[in-house]
Amino acid sequence: MVSNLNVQKQLISSKNILFIQDIDGVCIPLVKDPMTRKLKSKYIYAAKALGEEFFVLTCGEHEGTRGVNRIIERSLGSLIEPKKKELYLRGLAACGVEYQENSGEISFEGVSEKELDFLSKVPSLIRPKFDLIVNNIFPELNQEDINFHAAKSICQTRFSPTINFNSLFELVVEDSDKRELIQVSFEKMMNEIMRKAESEGLKNKFFLHISPNLGYKNGSEIIKLSTKSDIGSTDIQLLIKGAVKDSGVLFLLNKFIKFKTGKAPFGNNFNFRNCPKSVREKIDLCKKSIQICDMPLIVGVGDTVTSKKHNGEKSYLRGGSDRSFLEFIQILGNEFGINNKIIFVDSSSGEVERPSTKKNGLIGISDAYDNLKFDIIFKNGPKEYINWFIELSRKRSKFKKNS
Ligand SMILES: [Mg+2]
Repeated sequence: MVSNLNVQKQLISSKNILFIQDIDGVCIPLVKDPMTRKLKSKYIYAAKALGEEFFVLTCGEHEGTRGVNRIIERSLGSLIEPKKKELYLRGLAACGVEYQENSGEISFEGVSEKELDFLSKVPSLIRPKFDLIVNNIFPELNQEDINFHAAKSICQTRFSPTINFNSLFELVVEDSDKRELIQVSFEKMMNEIMRKAESEGLKNKFFLHISPNLGYKNGSEIIKLSTKSDIGSTDIQLLIKGAVKDSGVLFLLNKFIKFKTGKAPFGNNFNFRNCPKSVREKIDLCKKSIQICDMPLIVGVGDTVTSKKHNGEKSYLRGGSDRSFLEFIQILGNEFGINNKIIFVDSSSGEVERPSTKKNGLIGISDAYDNLKFDIIFKNGPKEYINWFIELSRKRSKFKKNS
């Protein structure tokens, strides 16, 4: 509590701050069916009030029937208002590919026609394989049932076609072996689609993003298999290579500094495709291109961070789709002598199984040897974070008006 207030105070009165915030599980409670997501309208206004100091960074998408923009329109009860008042959430979606301004104007530099073309075919490539797999695991289901689950499980998103397990997991709440079989079968299926892309001349253009995951092995993300106490990975997305959240941080930082100083430190054409890959190279690029006085205090906010003891050994497998960008923000702060803030929102109160900080502390999320340290943990989930955020935005606006 005390630490929350102290961080809030510091953020309200700092010269330059920059929020980089995940969406699902942070400002939207996790739900099994993404089509039922809800966003508090007060939060939308609070984000807008922060102006250039706020960006989202999410693996979901802004546009399309499943996009966050549809949630904004539902929350505000209007298709016109969000555009007219520029209330869409600005920032990067599709893990760093789809950029949007508050007006809803979208750009996606770095993506080729051929890649977009293949991505649009993925849902129809998944469909027949989905039927086979589900038939095999659940022989009792009829075609109508399978259609029902397919509609919920196969997400036809523009940059990130996804297979989601939650709908099928509902059928095997008590059976972690079956859940594991679902995970393994669909991981194999998604790898087949990757090979199809290769055969069409798109080698190394895509990768599979598994959420949540247990880090990397040989350049691929490690699936978190279901156990009795932890549901493990719930979806696999086929993403464009380079579309990772920590590259997104550089893209957003480039935009922020350009807005503040008139000059983009990494150049006007910087995007995820020409972003350096390793953390060291990214830090070096920042140190070479950004003056300390232009670097804002960055606040990274996420909910998907994992840590799992490796086969009873002393080492840990650490992953989670928010880990890399939060770690990067923390390291970047240290390198610039700025105490960047890392905020963890406990999303276990939603409909999707996640480790609970209330029940088990940081078990399953972090560990004593983890370099990533949280400045604030919102144990009560999105609701608590949103209230804190709304208050902060109000006070920050007041501070800026008076200074
Ligand atoms: Mg999230």
